[in-house]
Amino acid sequence: MSWFIRKEKGINTPTEMKREAPDGLWYQCPQCKKITPTREHKLNAYTCPHCNYHDKVGSEIYFELLFDDNKFTELDANLTSGDPLKFVDTKAYPDRVKATIQKTGLKDAVRTGYGKMNDLDIVIACMDFSFIGGSMGSVVGEKIARAINYALKKKIPFLMISKSGGARMMEAGFSLMQMAKTSARLALLSEAKLPYISLLTDPTTGGVTASYAMLGDFNISEPEALIGFAGPRVIRETIGKDLPKGFQSAEFVLEHGFLDFIVDRKDLKDKLTSLLTMLS
Ligand SMILES: [Zn+2]
Repeated sequence: MSWFIRKEKGINTPTEMKREAPDGLWYQCPQCKKITPTREHKLNAYTCPHCNYHDKVGSEIYFELLFDDNKFTELDANLTSGDPLKFVDTKAYPDRVKATIQKTGLKDAVRTGYGKMNDLDIVIACMDFSFIGGSMGSVVGEKIARAINYALKKKIPFLMISKSGGARMMEAGFSLMQMAKTSARLALLSEAKLPYISLLTDPTTGGVTASYAMLGDFNISEPEALIGFAGPRVIRETIGKDLPKGFQSAEFVLEHGFLDFIVDRKDLKDKLTSLLTMLS
């Protein structure tokens, strides 16, 4: 039976000889842990076909999902952040920005553009969480303000897709001023009777929730998104009470009257289209 006995001990296949499935063919859902082919996951608008978990995606994907044939013109694509406070934490702020630009290929935490959505003209601003936690600094505020200006000038609706940890610490007071700036521009949009729809995605918190994200003619959200101002721990310690179950989920926020409806990402484009058709 010598042919049956392993003569060498251990398995000696070198790493480069091992046959493995190439990366990126499969997507594993972080919620239900089930596996889906990447292609199917993409066709499903990056939601899990088993449990409907909405994967966190950025502006590139939302633009692709919403603009007809992914055709749009980007506004202020090259606006980047200054360093008004000469801020240093573990890194100098300009170095952090530079490193993040290199890592993500993005210039800041929001991208804005205009194009057609089911043949309707629309301006869309979409935040990117991968850029310093989707934090709102001067560039985010300025780009949103300018996108609203464009909507005003062309008399077309404005859609904001938020995904943010809140104001950008490294710009401190300058970040907080963006709340007033964007809110004031949105008031002009409202005076001009142009629709503003705010889509809150997972997570939308802090100064973003406290300003433009909650100022929509319609405030809508993706399922199970985290929506809040301060984190649960801070609130628990402040009010000295335990928080109810599901606190700060989109479903809870809807039940308490802060959202108009929750929309599945697969239906987003069509729902937005019918909403805008009704409003115009
Ligand atoms: Zn799943």
